[in-house]
Amino acid sequence: MIRKIIRRIFDKPKSGPVILPLKKHGIHKEDVSVCARKVTSSLQEAGFSAFIVGGAVRDLVLGRKPKDFDVATDADPDEVRAIFRRSRIIGRRFRLVHVLCGAEVIEVSTFRRSHASEEEAESVDVHGRVLADNVFGNQEEDAQRRDFTINALFYDPSTEEIWDYHDGFADLKASKIRMIGDPETRYREDPVRMLRAVRFAAKLGMKLDRETEAPIRSLGELLSHVPAARLFEEMLKLLMSGHSTECIPELRRAGLHHGLLPMLDVILEQPMGERFVMAALKNTDERIGEEKPVSPAFLFAVLLWHEVLALWKLGQEKGERPIPALYEAMDKVLDAQQEMLAIPRRYTTTMKEIWGLQPRFLQRSGRRPFQLIEHPRFRAGYDFLTLRAQSGEVDPEIGKWWEDFQFASGEVRESMLLEEEAPKRRRRRRRPKAVEA
Ligand code: ATP
Ligand code: MG
Repeated sequence: MIRKIIRRIFDKPKSGPVILPLKKHGIHKEDVSVCARKVTSSLQEAGFSAFIVGGAVRDLVLGRKPKDFDVATDADPDEVRAIFRRSRIIGRRFRLVHVLCGAEVIEVSTFRRSHASEEEAESVDVHGRVLADNVFGNQEEDAQRRDFTINALFYDPSTEEIWDYHDGFADLKASKIRMIGDPETRYREDPVRMLRAVRFAAKLGMKLDRETEAPIRSLGELLSHVPAARLFEEMLKLLMSGHSTECIPELRRAGLHHGLLPMLDVILEQPMGERFVMAALKNTDERIGEEKPVSPAFLFAVLLWHEVLALWKLGQEKGERPIPALYEAMDKVLDAQQEMLAIPRRYTTTMKEIWGLQPRFLQRSGRRPFQLIEHPRFRAGYDFLTLRAQSGEVDPEIGKWWEDFQFASGEVRESMLLEEEAPKRRRRRRRPKAVEA
């Protein structure tokens, strides 16, 4: 009852937006991509309203380069589709239009409102999570359904105005992440917002507003009700944010990792595990900062490796042979993981290849090293080995050997090969000794 009253007060849209002119916010229309400007102006010429919304406006105000530009309009998807020749309607749950313009894609969505009012309560699960999301609404309602005030700014390039319904501009300037509406209700509607809060705080170097932060501790468990595929998407955004080294400890601090990567505590509490994971994250952040590509499969292989390692060891202690034990450990870890955070098969295939290559780096005689460097995943496998060596899990001498071997000439390579092991041991080599630690 009390929650209902609070919700009524909080969820009531305030009357009208504050309109900030150019001299207040300093964003020039030239800061917006030509494509995005063309999309807003074409919509406006056709008699609709159209604004740049969400992350792009936030990033422009912060002086950062937006990743992409999203547009919100009062035109419905069919009307948008009719205006742009190179466009297509996407999405089943909520229809959006992708307008193509050169290599750029502008996502155009129709203003919508959240479903989570009492009359529409049947679309909420027992924990308050919104199931059937969103119906068309007006601009004010569209601002209202967004997560944080800093993500709810509308920028019109033709007038160079920002329309601000929730004091998002002031929050941006104060480096404050504040939920629109009652935070607990909004987290219950969509628990992923908790992950988003952590991600934005780490990525933008901002602080969560006290009331926005407070409910997270006790609501973290709700993430277990979110579809595993959606959690994967959010986790990926977090890892690819360029600030994963800050995000992961924050996730742990907020207790949000339990439903995502349950072993993370155990892994990060061991110095070797921590060195391994943090070195990989640091490297990823640097690559993203330099706009170099990074591989999600590699990252997830890193995050789950120490779990695989533990089970692999256990299998061998039970008398299983190393290679079958490794494959069994990989399958067990991936199976358990799929229930919480569904890693798509295209990634798990690569992860298994990276893991499966690891014992092969221990074989440094005969023709095997030559075969290994020809493997399509050699590079990823080698980078993974390097991290293992850096963290103290394998002898650094092995990493160094492979570094030299791959760049050496044919002759030098031959000279680097280790002695074939004695015949008696050769038989045992078919089951290579795999765990170095
Ligand atoms: P990024 O730069 O990481 O893409 P973003 O703010 O653009 O950040 P998106 O996931 O692209 O994030 O979402 C676009 C906008 O949609 C957000 O700015 C926010 O207004 C709204 N939004 C996205 N996810 C949610 C959610 N779970 N609940 C409410 N609003 C959301
Ligand atoms: Mg975005």
